[in-house]
Amino acid sequence: MKILANDGLNPAGIRMLEAAGFEVITNKVAQEALPKFINENKIEILLVRSATKVRKDLIDACPGLKLIGRGGVGMDNIDVEYARSKGIAVVNTPASSSDSVAELVMAHLYGMVRFLHDSNRLMPLEGETRFNELKKKYSDGRELRGKTLGIIGIGRIGQSLARLALGVGMKVIASDPYYTESVDIKLDFCDGQSVTIKVPIVDMDSLLAQSDFVSLHVPAADKPIIGREQIAKMKDKAAIVNAARGGIVDEEALLEALDSGKLAYAGLDVFKNEPTPAMRVLMHPAVSLTPHIGASTVEAQERIGEEMAQIIISHFKK
Ligand code: NAD
Repeated sequence: MKILANDGLNPAGIRMLEAAGFEVITNKVAQEALPKFINENKIEILLVRSATKVRKDLIDACPGLKLIGRGGVGMDNIDVEYARSKGIAVVNTPASSSDSVAELVMAHLYGMVRFLHDSNRLMPLEGETRFNELKKKYSDGRELRGKTLGIIGIGRIGQSLARLALGVGMKVIASDPYYTESVDIKLDFCDGQSVTIKVPIVDMDSLLAQSDFVSLHVPAADKPIIGREQIAKMKDKAAIVNAARGGIVDEEALLEALDSGKLAYAGLDVFKNEPTPAMRVLMHPAVSLTPHIGASTVEAQERIGEEMAQIIISHFKK
């Protein structure tokens, strides 16, 4: 069977698939050229990440497709139910990238409280006066230890983030309709010992009122989960991190709150108009930015490739 990995696949995954008898093509085919390429090359398995869109028209144009695989979590670039209604299997690799996304959130948190995103841009080539100006500008950083992190959506990534945040001495609370009371988070230490900490589940308003930092880890939604009304309920000088999906934070409301000083910082890995974020978001000195790279670590890519290969092999060798 032929596989087109249109947004790439880690060599570890390719090796596993080839050893199992699949042919893997890693050409990057332009979106509009996909139907012709898939049909002419008799591709039966289409693997994508977030760049390639697998909408109804592509599904209809490629009747030979048997499986669509999304390396990673969010399947909002695929018409999942439609594909399944046509008898095409749709799979993803939900667990492989959770730790990478959680580490990126911690990087945004540590970066923003010490202004790393801004000071990297402004460090002078030379000049004692400018150096000392910046030294003064960035001298009121804050520590994470002892602060409260509110996690909205404590699924795979949320729990991984909770583990890291608890490990550096933060207090963690969460809001998630799937859970009641608390979620057990197990911290493993390198000497083989472990400790389990209960992260309390609170309602959204309590989370907003109590948190110094709010991080979102929920699926894509039609309308923002955090808008003006929710920001008004947050602590003054709090911060928001969004490494889930762009539309779930109202960017206009966020910028207003940063300009007015209601919020101190924001960390964004995802944006409303990806891949073209608003200029005001890009230029804002209080916003720490990354270009949707939450899952993009060497380790996560290896795990994604291997998990995807394993899923495909077991699906077709049933
Ligand atoms: P998950 O399904 O394991 O967890 C999501 C959790 O959110 C669930 O527990 C669910 O009950 C909860 N939830 C749903 N709606 C909610 C709401 N309105 N309020 C509070 N909680 C709510 O998913 P995950 O693997 O943890 O992924 C979370 C998000 O991260 C997804 O949007 C995914 O697309 C995104 N993601 C981003 C990157 C990146 O590169 N930045 C990488 C992977 C995943």
